[in-house]
Formats: sequence, structure tokens, C-alpha cells
Amino acid sequence: MAAPKRAARCSNFGMSQRILHPIAAVLLTLLSLLNLDAAENPGKLKVLFLGHDSKHHNSNEYCPLITAALAPDDIDIEYSTKVDSLNEQNLARFDAVMLYANHGLISEEQLNALIGFVEAGKGFVPVHCASACFGRFPRFVSLVGARFKSHKSGVFRASIIAPQHPVMKGLAEFESWDETYVHGDHNSDGRTILMERVEGDTREPWTWVRTQGKGRVFYTASGHDDRTWKEQGFQRLLRNGIVWSVGEARSKAWEEARNKSQK
Ligand SMILES: [Zn+2]
Repeated sequence: MAAPKRAARCSNFGMSQRILHPIAAVLLTLLSLLNLDAAENPGKLKVLFLGHDSKHHNSNEYCPLITAALAPDDIDIEYSTKVDSLNEQNLARFDAVMLYANHGLISEEQLNALIGFVEAGKGFVPVHCASACFGRFPRFVSLVGARFKSHKSGVFRASIIAPQHPVMKGLAEFESWDETYVHGDHNSDGRTILMERVEGDTREPWTWVRTQGKGRVFYTASGHDDRTWKEQGFQRLLRNGIVWSVGEARSKAWEEARNKSQK
């Protein structure tokens, strides 16, 4: 016989509403419309990692690496390989979305959900090949800040050009084998370049942040394979990018809750 299912939180919630004062019930209903996960545990940043099922840009392998690296900082990563996880109801559970995949298609509704999520004040963290995703959708390219154009490869170290920016705090330049991405269709609106890949006279924007609506975007071109994903400098860069992307108020609440729990 199957074990009885654990009661879903929403059904418990309905029961308590019936015995509460009407004003309290209204307040609880309003709270249920907010991000309950964040409200319940401000000391955890919740990130949706959208990957894919391909061995090229092997998100199935790299997601566990970054999940383990960020767990001690109370950054929880939930993994999905399905673009349909980009819907309003699901996104409401997260502080930020990280994208590392080669998806070509996104529906108008899914793109609206992602852009709406960011513009309402949440974070978006496209990594490496994410700048080649959904390439036929100019609104997505604008959100990222540019589109992948071409690459060669090699061992190199991208240069930090904005050391004072919060994302760069405590970071050192790191060296790894990676693809030498070149981008096109740049959207400099609200964009600040943090790192460049310098080769001869070429200074290719490599890592940047941008703002859109009330939200924030962090992008880095690094991350072709495990040679970069295993680099502590890269993991630290993603960590700082995520924390910055969720916005000042949210990251402050996260830090304060963590400090309290460590006392
Ligand atoms: Zn690649």
C-alpha cells in the first residue's frame, strides 16, 4: 500500500484561514502571493539553474560543482533542463535564474516571464553559451547585453577593469583554458564592463553587469568546460555575480540573516 502523501503546505494554509480572524486571513493571503520561500528563510538565496541535457556544455556535470561550491554560502541551487521552468509561478520561488545551455527556442510567454521576473527586481545570470541561446529573440539578446558571435580557444586570463565594483570584491584574475568568445549586437544600455579579454589591440568585453527595470543581470563569457568550472576564481565570480544580481535589499537581508545564525 502506498504511504499516505504528506499534506501540501497550501492545504494546511487553507485550514488555518478558516479559523483565523478575517484580517489575519487577508494578510496571510497577501503573503502567499509573495515569495514565501524567501520570506521563510531570508538567509538562503534561491537560484534556478537552467541547463540542458547535452554533453557539450555539460550542465549536468557542472551544476553539482557550483552547487557544492556555493552551499557553504547559503546559496541554494535548483536544477532544471526544461525551458518551461521559465513560468511566472515557478520563477516566483527564486531570487535569480542562472542560464548555461544551448536552447534555441523559447515561447513568447516564457520570454515574457523571464523578462518580467528581472524587471520586477530579480536576478539573471547568463553564463558563457547563454549568450548564444534564444538568438532569434532580440529582446533576449538585449537582456543578456550582447550575442555570441564566434570563438577560437586557448589558455588566457581575462583582465579586471572595474576592481571597485561589488562583484569584483575579493576577486583575482584567474587563468584557464576556455573559448575566446567574441560578441555582437551589444546592448550598452545600463551595462558596465567588469572584465575584458585583451589580445593585441582587441579588448573584448568579457564579464559585465547591467540593469533592466528594477532587476540586475550578470554575464561572463567564461565557462566552456570543467577546466573553468573547477577554477575557484570562476566559482567565486559566479557567487559574487549571483549575490549582486538579487539586488541590494535582498542581498542585505541574506547577509544579516546569515550573520545572525552564525552568532
Ligand atoms: Zn563553449
